[in-house]
Amino acid sequence: MKQWLRVVLCGVLWLGAAQALRAEPIPVVASFSILADLARQVGGEHVAVSALIGPDQDGHVYQPTPADVGRVANARLVLINGLGFEGWLTRLVQAAGYGGPVQAASDGVKVRTVAQGRGDVPDPHAWQDPVAVQQYVRNIAQALAQVDPAQADAYARNAQAYLARLQALDTDIQARFSGIPADRRKVITTHDAMGYFGDRYGVTFVPAQGLTTASEPSARQLAALIRQVRVEGITALFVENMASAAVLRQIAAETGARLGGTLYSDALSGEGGDAPDYLTMMRRNANALAMALTP
Ligand SMILES: [Zn+2]
Repeated sequence: MKQWLRVVLCGVLWLGAAQALRAEPIPVVASFSILADLARQVGGEHVAVSALIGPDQDGHVYQPTPADVGRVANARLVLINGLGFEGWLTRLVQAAGYGGPVQAASDGVKVRTVAQGRGDVPDPHAWQDPVAVQQYVRNIAQALAQVDPAQADAYARNAQAYLARLQALDTDIQARFSGIPADRRKVITTHDAMGYFGDRYGVTFVPAQGLTTASEPSARQLAALIRQVRVEGITALFVENMASAAVLRQIAAETGARLGGTLYSDALSGEGGDAPDYLTMMRRNANALAMALTP
């Protein structure tokens, strides 16, 4: 081969390899902040994740914006929670003309149901159970490997490391609650977001609102709650970072029960807040609850 041809070929190969190394991160859209954090943990440097519903925002009353339509249009993967959490999804995907994969992170988790009207409806807040979130992480790793097979090993490795941290989180929370008597483990919250956490760690959460934040409790429901707080001697009331605190302040005022602080239920805090990622959020919630419930 002529020398000059060899030089040109080498140059072309080298450029190609350099380009592969500098592969653009995969654009991933996650429906809400908690899911976005999980996607970043699994995807690492190979993904560019954005959340439609940001920190401290309420997903139950979310309305897609034109900017969101644009983000979905440019995505290679859309991650949702599923279990009815994203009622707006079909319209958004259609508006964006998005034809790529939509992965429900909750696929395969053991679903908690809540009686509503004439039947049972699925409770979407499965991320409040770290064991369920292990399934989220497996689903996210699989979905990422499908759209980006070249990095499948990296996704599997990252998922494995994060699964170990979820395991440790679960063990720590179990230990945090182990000393609290069963009859003290009752908490009033704004909406029914903590059921999976309650099932996992033996805490009863009595929500002032239902599974969503869309409707305020009626006067009768409020009176029943106030009665329950008095009769059962419930002392822990928690507001949520993404929902209105008005109802809980009213219950506290009427019963003399104190507000135990804020729970991060459906959204992380911002970067500078005290729940900027999932693991920190769960430890912080568990600590705040255990402190309020400890006699
Ligand atoms: Zn919720």
